[in-house]
Amino acid sequence: MERAVARIDFDAIRANCTRLKVELGDGAELCAVVKADGYGHGADGCANAALAGGATRLAVATAGEAAQVGRRFQHIPLLTMGALTAEEVDIVLSAGSELAVWREGFRRLLADRARAQGRPARVHVKFDSGMGRLGTPDPEEVLALARACDADPSLELAGVWTHLATADEPDSAFFDEQLDRFERVADAVRAEFPAVVVHAANSAAVFRDRRSHFDMARCGVAIYGLDPFQGDPAERGLAPALSLRSYVADVKRFPPGASVGYGQRWAAPVETWVGVVPLGYGDGVRRGLSNNGEVLVRGRRQPLVGTVSMDNITIDLGPDTEVEPGDEAVLIGAQGDDAILAEEVAARLDTINYEVTCAISSRVPRRPK
Ligand SMILES: *Cc1c(COP(=O)(O)O)cnc(C)c1O
Repeated sequence: MERAVARIDFDAIRANCTRLKVELGDGAELCAVVKADGYGHGADGCANAALAGGATRLAVATAGEAAQVGRRFQHIPLLTMGALTAEEVDIVLSAGSELAVWREGFRRLLADRARAQGRPARVHVKFDSGMGRLGTPDPEEVLALARACDADPSLELAGVWTHLATADEPDSAFFDEQLDRFERVADAVRAEFPAVVVHAANSAAVFRDRRSHFDMARCGVAIYGLDPFQGDPAERGLAPALSLRSYVADVKRFPPGASVGYGQRWAAPVETWVGVVPLGYGDGVRRGLSNNGEVLVRGRRQPLVGTVSMDNITIDLGPDTEVEPGDEAVLIGAQGDDAILAEEVAARLDTINYEVTCAISSRVPRRPK
């Protein structure tokens, strides 16, 4: 029995990657995105499982993540996708990671640092096809950067890429618009540099449109068995990898009118039993679930009542319950015949499954299922 634990099903991650590989067909590589500590699942274990499932590359967002993942997976191509300060460039290059470039000034800085380290930097030129964040929106600048990287002995032109803003919105025409823009730029770069790796797709795009696959897909959310469209992952052949488990620490009788938690946000309408589960927002159980959540105990959904506090939540077990102290309590994941999906928790919080698993804090150990 543990106070709180995230159980990670690495077989599920492996199978989800195999599923994505089938979707990608023969043409495209799978790059497993393990940023934000593997979307809260633990980066190292997930990267291992993803590689076993057919991923051939890894990606992260930050220099710190590159240092961690690069050290552990030295022979796997790694891409650091985010913006980097000059100090961070050194860290990323030392980690052996490939980098994103979209400005000539940054390209020159990279070349200098790579020369100083005595090893050429592998560079992916980023086109902003409409996301409006990182990348240059100017197709000519993409081509100019590609040529400059190719001509510079301190750099190797590795890729040209973009990121899609509405892949998870099936009715959005902007998705096609972005792909049209990117295709034109990618074709121009490929005409001069045929070996360049062209990539655009995230998880949602992989399922949505083959045209987005190009040479590689950068998949995060789906490898963890989370649905990119916020539906049921099973409908796309994905299996959730994470469960969040705790236990019932105490069971108490509440007379009618007795209240629970900060601000007395809930009071027993009739005589009932209340269970105390010793985890809270300090563990990443969001306070927005106050009077707005469910917890599985003995295979049944029990409503979360009162305010979520830092270290405890409370659940209404009803007037006659068999629940006893020591019973397992599941906040995300399966128990008995039922399961609470991260997508369901996200809907209650008006957010997305990504944020639900990323929110699980470092106070919660991640252990293999
Ligand atoms: C996080 C990220 C991805 C992965 O997206 P998913 O929706 O989780 O598959 C891909 N590309 C970039 C640039 C990202 O930042």
